[in-house]
Amino acid sequence: MKVEYNYLSQQFENLEPYFEDLRKWVPTGEYTLGPYVEAFEKKAADYLGASHVISTNTGTDALILAFKAIDLKAGDEVITVANTFYATAGAIVAAGGKPVFVDCDNRYLIDVSQIESKITKKTKAIVPVHWTGAPADMKEIVSIARKYSLKVVEDACPSLGAQMDGKYCGTFGDIGCFSFHPLKQLNVWGDGGMVVTDNSEIADFLRLYRNHGLVDRDHIAMWGVNKRLQPFQAIIASRVLDTMEEALRLRVRNAARLDEGLKDLKSFVTLPPRPKNTREAFQVYMIRCQDRDRLLAHLIQEGIEAKVHYPIPLHLQKPAREMGYKEGDFPMAERQARELITLPAHQYVTLEQIHYTIEKIKEYYSHL
Ligand SMILES: *Cc1c(COP(=O)(O)O)cnc(C)c1O
Repeated sequence: MKVEYNYLSQQFENLEPYFEDLRKWVPTGEYTLGPYVEAFEKKAADYLGASHVISTNTGTDALILAFKAIDLKAGDEVITVANTFYATAGAIVAAGGKPVFVDCDNRYLIDVSQIESKITKKTKAIVPVHWTGAPADMKEIVSIARKYSLKVVEDACPSLGAQMDGKYCGTFGDIGCFSFHPLKQLNVWGDGGMVVTDNSEIADFLRLYRNHGLVDRDHIAMWGVNKRLQPFQAIIASRVLDTMEEALRLRVRNAARLDEGLKDLKSFVTLPPRPKNTREAFQVYMIRCQDRDRLLAHLIQEGIEAKVHYPIPLHLQKPAREMGYKEGDFPMAERQARELITLPAHQYVTLEQIHYTIEKIKEYYSHL
């Protein structure tokens, strides 16, 4: 049996509905922003229960725009977590800031107890990451930020659809950022992203700044950039958004079955705690395993496309080492880099494939 990690050919097997929309759009000549992008932004804002959505060309650009919007200045410090995707830190640096890492906890999320000790006079913002689609502890993070007058930019790139107490990730802080990368929950045919905020000043700034500062054809209000979402991607995103809740339901179902099937392997497998007040969006399903590298090889040999996100924690990558970070700085992130494994659990994985995965993991440990 094969259990594949990538599901795009299945998701886009029936292209007709997408092509029908695209055939209507092409003759309109609306190729930069315009009604298709606006319609998508309104739909996404309604889905999230947020006041404003400003779409962008990538999730990384969504983060860079967010840092511009909070007026991040050269040398400002931004506190974030050591086990995230490169773009979280890359965007901070691209906007002129300095990433200051803290370790993660046993849910693979920013360890909130370590944030306050990293706050200095130069700290401008906290950037929690809803890693794997699991909600970070936003109540605590927002309360720390208010106490020290810091901004909160949520890197919600991998977590569209995740909720805490019924409220969507990306809507707790000052700004939330999302990615439409092909393997994120709301995916397009290439790259895309969006910034979400309830603050109308931030929204007004971003709508201008994202589009050269243009107020009309002949006037600009500020120096801006071009980080627009392509209208054809907005059209794809609108359709995918309609299928999101069903996809999430299946991801949650698959994750629950894996949790259930693996929980008796306690001495070999550690599942993350899953607080009752959260709904995870399971961009990926990750657990910690003993003897990870050999288990990984075994699963791949058995046709299960397991992965590691990521074998090298961010603070041990070259540019972070050049900032002075070293082995031992973040024991939890380092331990997770050695132990974490990602199992396919997306919406196209069947229960039969889930049971096969569980059997193969059990089989591996029965030989130890
Ligand atoms: C995917 C991702 C990004 C970047 O999004 P792109 O659309 O690929 O630029 C940033 N941060 C996190 C945590 C992500 O998972």
